Amino acid sequence: MRYISTRGGLAPSAFCDILLMGLAPDGGLVLPEHYPRIDRATLDGWRSLSYADLAFEIIRLFADDIPQEDLRALVSRTYTAEVFGSPEITPVKRLHDGLAILELSNGPTLAFKDMAMQLLGNLFEYVLAKRGETLNILGATSGDTGSAAEYAMRGKAGINVFMLSPDGRMSAFQRAQMYSLQDANIHNIAIRGMFDDCQDIVKAVQNDHAFKARYRIGTVNSINWARVVAQVVYYFKGYFNATGSNDERVSFCVPSGNFGNVCAGHIARQMGLPVERLIVATNENDVLDEFFRTGRYRPRGTAHTYVTSSPSMDISKASNFERFVFDLVGRDPDRVRALWAQVERAEGFDLSDRLEDTATRFGFVSGRSTHADRLATIRQVDAEDAVVVDTHTADGIKVARALRLPGETVVCLETALPAKFADTIREALDRDPPRPAGYEGLESLPQRVTVFDADAEAVKTYIAQALG
Ligand SMILES: *Cc1c(COP(=O)(O)O)cnc(C)c1O
Repeated sequence: MRYISTRGGLAPSAFCDILLMGLAPDGGLVLPEHYPRIDRATLDGWRSLSYADLAFEIIRLFADDIPQEDLRALVSRTYTAEVFGSPEITPVKRLHDGLAILELSNGPTLAFKDMAMQLLGNLFEYVLAKRGETLNILGATSGDTGSAAEYAMRGKAGINVFMLSPDGRMSAFQRAQMYSLQDANIHNIAIRGMFDDCQDIVKAVQNDHAFKARYRIGTVNSINWARVVAQVVYYFKGYFNATGSNDERVSFCVPSGNFGNVCAGHIARQMGLPVERLIVATNENDVLDEFFRTGRYRPRGTAHTYVTSSPSMDISKASNFERFVFDLVGRDPDRVRALWAQVERAEGFDLSDRLEDTATRFGFVSGRSTHADRLATIRQVDAEDAVVVDTHTADGIKVARALRLPGETVVCLETALPAKFADTIREALDRDPPRPAGYEGLESLPQRVTVFDADAEAVKTYIAQALG
């Protein structure tokens, strides 16, 4: 399996060579030359596998330059009942109307990002050790990504994490989750400012090429290919859990922001998983919904990105979307390059001539949800099914119920647990969300965080001193 760029400027490369890469050198995203096709006999064989065994079978198709016994050990160490709360790893529960919820949020940070990030931590450590290299991850977070990265990388040999977060702007739970980590390789830096200020500092450091090279600075953002591959696994597992045989078809409904999660669903479908439709759910930040309804992609600036009660979907430029568009335009890198030149000129693009293909050939449909919809859905699911869902999952359930066809099996992806978003749960239900066991005293644990003004030089000095 070799990897290329959506913009055509990457010589075909092996998995381990693209693993630590952010963007491809030409600014595009990395993709395999072709998707492996899964035949019916293979699918039948996979139905009864454990999560870890299924993950091994799928990931080895994409990471074929890692010796099989090493990969099997890595994957088995990652997907355990101790880390993910149950031997099923991603159980399915049914609501009274038959809607299925695929539980992806039982990992250490209570959001689906753990599913991929936990594997990434083990993969990075393995590849760095093999090459005798080290890596210092620098990132900015407004919540879920940063904590998932820290819990995946804590205690890993050869890796440090420097995570910037906006001082005082995350929920008390999210702050406690990140700042209570005492591992020496995890560095929390709170910036007096907003999330954008944090991101600007990351960019400034990345643009100092001498600093970046000297201190081996890397990232773990959502365009990382290994994260997408790890997410492909739970579409297969979710399909097997929600069906009685491989003759059935299901649709998936995915609360979306950067399009990473549903992109993995697209790849699973291209591999031959019997997926009827991929339902993209957005909140008020609805660039993706607009695209799937009209064929027009009009990314917005940060000034037009709304702050909502499903904050992990407050994104107006979907970084993984380019991977799908590459497939939609017949894998033509020249076309993709031209389209993203338009995006960079803030013109967006119009692929309404491909809208038919988007729906029929690729199975995509979409819908949007609002704060009022979220509250109503959280109340409804609590009253009818005695289940408390988080705000992002509520967006998915709202859209799934609006678009579901008679007889269609829809699996909604649960992207976080409600404990992370207590304010909105209290607004909807007038009580606190349930807390999973082990998280009771989280906010009273001692915290480790360094606070700086929004100043890239101060952050660079801190990094240099920390690395000696
Ligand atoms: C990251 C995140 C999303 C959005 O996922 P994408 O892969 O960016 O589309 C949705 N919900 C939650 C809770 C998240 O953390």
